[in-house]
Amino acid sequence: MTEQLYFDDPLTLEFTAQVTESRPLNKGRYGLILPRTYFYPTSGGQEHDTGFIGEARVLDVYKDNGTIIHVVDRSLTPGDYPARIDRDRRIRAMQHHTGQHILSATFLEVADIESISANINGDSPSTIDLEVGEVAPETMRQAERYANSILFENRAVKSYYVTDADAASIPFRKPPKVSGRIRVVEVDGFDVTPCGGTHCLNTSMVGLIKIIRTERVNQKLRVHFVAGYQALDHFNTYQDISQGAASLLETGVDGIPAVLERKLDQLKAAQTELETLRVGLLAAEAGQLAASAEQLGALRLVTALFRGRLATDLRQLGMKLRDMPGMVALLAAFDEGKLSLVVACAQDSGVNARDLLDKHLAPFNGRGGGDPFLAQGGGTVDNDELDGLFKGTKDDLDVT
Ligand SMILES: [Zn+2]
Repeated sequence: MTEQLYFDDPLTLEFTAQVTESRPLNKGRYGLILPRTYFYPTSGGQEHDTGFIGEARVLDVYKDNGTIIHVVDRSLTPGDYPARIDRDRRIRAMQHHTGQHILSATFLEVADIESISANINGDSPSTIDLEVGEVAPETMRQAERYANSILFENRAVKSYYVTDADAASIPFRKPPKVSGRIRVVEVDGFDVTPCGGTHCLNTSMVGLIKIIRTERVNQKLRVHFVAGYQALDHFNTYQDISQGAASLLETGVDGIPAVLERKLDQLKAAQTELETLRVGLLAAEAGQLAASAEQLGALRLVTALFRGRLATDLRQLGMKLRDMPGMVALLAAFDEGKLSLVVACAQDSGVNARDLLDKHLAPFNGRGGGDPFLAQGGGTVDNDELDGLFKGTKDDLDVT
């Protein structure tokens, strides 16, 4: 049974670790056993501490039947070593954990909504799962504001132990899950919860609580929030993004919405104009292709091979050629071994576009679909096979 010193003193982060045992674990790691420790093991929704014991890096800390295992990257011989807990990680966890108590109590106070579970992480947003699937945005804002007012009042956060008998008279927000000696965390005059985590000593240490988003998970509402240092990081990230965007748009941060709206309108107008021009260009190109057609009796045959051209372009060209009398057009595009083929046949040509497509794609294991007037498909082809692509076309048309 390891004595858990962090319960009564969460701010001691450097101490002399008395290593009594070094157990080999898998992947070249070792589990150090100490009779007493300030290292917090993963439990109660709060992540473990990291740090150093001597030269050994503490990568993980967990509890195994009352014994705390410090997972390290090397073995240590039994003895005393200077130990150091990563301060930033611990403080962040404490800020988020205390913030979680306050936010959970706030939802109960403001909207009569209970928190079912929580996940505390000082490096990424922590979460609270609420018992309901939806909370109105104004209620969310109200809860956030109320929780922060508790922080700004600098209330004391106390932790102490009670027995089962005492517990019955304590107005816990949630009933204790353990019996016997129960650890209580109390935000003065606001919230009383049974908890085994590390907490700030007063509410102002939490700094700030900011709800950043919500999501539905199994009919419940998951609230993602940041606190303390992470709230500052979050603010800085948003500030960098907004100032970067403002600079790109050559305006101030306040001007971003209006400038962006104007730019989007301009973009939309430019896209419409571009599309009109593109359609005009394709119509002109279809005319040029028709002018170059080979006259075969009553038929006009167009064959064209493009490199690196979109299949949608071919299709639009095909649609225009299809409407020209006597027209049979085969339009291919080649790009890095991939062949696209569009066959367009005028109604009066008597030629079936689908049949012609299948014949031309067969040598390349290609596949396609369409109707007798416009068919489209593709396959894989080698560079040197391209020359033979339209070789048999005239035979297929059966024109004498
Ligand atoms: Zn707690």
